[in-house]
Amino acid sequence: MGDERISKHDLILVASPFQGHMTPMLQLGSILHSKGFSITITHTKLNSPLPSNHPHFNFLPLFDNFSSIDASANFTNFVQLLNDNCRMQLQQLLTQKIQQNDHQITIIHDNIMYFAQEVATNLNVRSIVFRSCSASYMPAFLALPKLHQQAHLPVQDTMLHKLVPDLYPLRYKDLPFNNTSTEVLKEMLTLSNHITNPSAIIWNTMDFLENASLTNLQHHYHIPIFAIGPLNEMAQCPSTSFLEEDTYCISWLDKQAPRSVVYVSLGSLATMDEKDLAETAWGLASSKQPFLWVVRPGSVKGSDWIEFLPDGFLEEIEGRGLVLKWAPQKQVLAHSSVGGFWSHCGWNSTLESISQGVPMICRPFFGDQYVNSRYLSYVWQVGLELECLERQVIVSTIRRLLVDDEGEETRKRANALKEKAKYSLCKGGSSFNSLSNLVEFILANST
Ligand code: UDP
Repeated sequence: MGDERISKHDLILVASPFQGHMTPMLQLGSILHSKGFSITITHTKLNSPLPSNHPHFNFLPLFDNFSSIDASANFTNFVQLLNDNCRMQLQQLLTQKIQQNDHQITIIHDNIMYFAQEVATNLNVRSIVFRSCSASYMPAFLALPKLHQQAHLPVQDTMLHKLVPDLYPLRYKDLPFNNTSTEVLKEMLTLSNHITNPSAIIWNTMDFLENASLTNLQHHYHIPIFAIGPLNEMAQCPSTSFLEEDTYCISWLDKQAPRSVVYVSLGSLATMDEKDLAETAWGLASSKQPFLWVVRPGSVKGSDWIEFLPDGFLEEIEGRGLVLKWAPQKQVLAHSSVGGFWSHCGWNSTLESISQGVPMICRPFFGDQYVNSRYLSYVWQVGLELECLERQVIVSTIRRLLVDDEGEETRKRANALKEKAKYSLCKGGSSFNSLSNLVEFILANST
């Protein structure tokens, strides 16, 4: 009975062209495919996934008219145009699909791809939102209009370290968009109003990790919320990277001492200027620890790659440090030589680090990363906050994590979190149960 319903139910997953959104969406697809569903990945031409890496999926490309994501350009404009360009195409493609057979359809869409919900309403099919950020970010995001009205945003310097009323343990500096201009903030809030009536939300998280935030969200949304994660551990998924992974770093890691290496990566979008690059470089060099540093092409403002590295740096670190363009991050974090992860605290990186019990150095750049950083360092206590980007502070933070007793304690807590994360995936664990509930929810209106 169950199998028959599943085989006649097609899931249309609408992915967004951001690396940190595409990866967990493909992982979710793999998991739902393993449950027997037919999976169609609808994606933009920009940053398309590689179909040959996912032979079990159908792919439905949408022509978005973009050639790249310019991280410094207006984000809200980009998202709006993306939605405008894709809406009619999806509607036409799904109309044809519905005419072809009598299968039920459910749309699962990335929250940024809100046009999919309008299409679902027009075609009278169910839509579910997929959220690839932390659950703890949302209460802070939802509080922004009020904080903005009260003139707390952008945050004044005198307020940065004060606690935000009703958002414990967040300080004003931990608020998403704390340093964003009023105009951009208003646009962000308008964007978020586009998602109005999903039937449920899937969240890439674990109940034990974000229980209070999930409960809070449940009260806010009044629809089922399925906390299913960490997806990076649940799914058997080949590479989902848009950039080529440099696998040489794994053989380099093989030669390093256990838990000695600090891995540095700021994800797929964050950018830094020349001064911050130099401080990071000299901080890493002066720490005397081996390091693996991902400098994504284009991530240093005004340069293609590492042209702005300070003179003498590469000679200084020879044999002890490796600079690369893009790493096979999951493999790196699973390597026994890695002792710490200096991260921008993107949610995927956070979950990947937790999954491997790797303690972190937290240096957020924007959006939910501030909230994640606060939870990592203060609530879960598996990361150290990097207070500022000055070489001496970098050196002392790396040594606190990699060398001092404080680091050992942090690592123990990170390992305990890893075990709990594993348990949530086992039979009877919260993510395991939540996945079963999601499957039942999807099938509930199947005939
Ligand atoms: N990533 C990677 N290699 C790198 C840097 C990042 O594979 O050198 C992956 C990482 O494993 C994660 C994703 O890129 O899955 C980044 O997502 P995250 O949410 O951490 O940050 P974002 O890029 O969205 O800011």
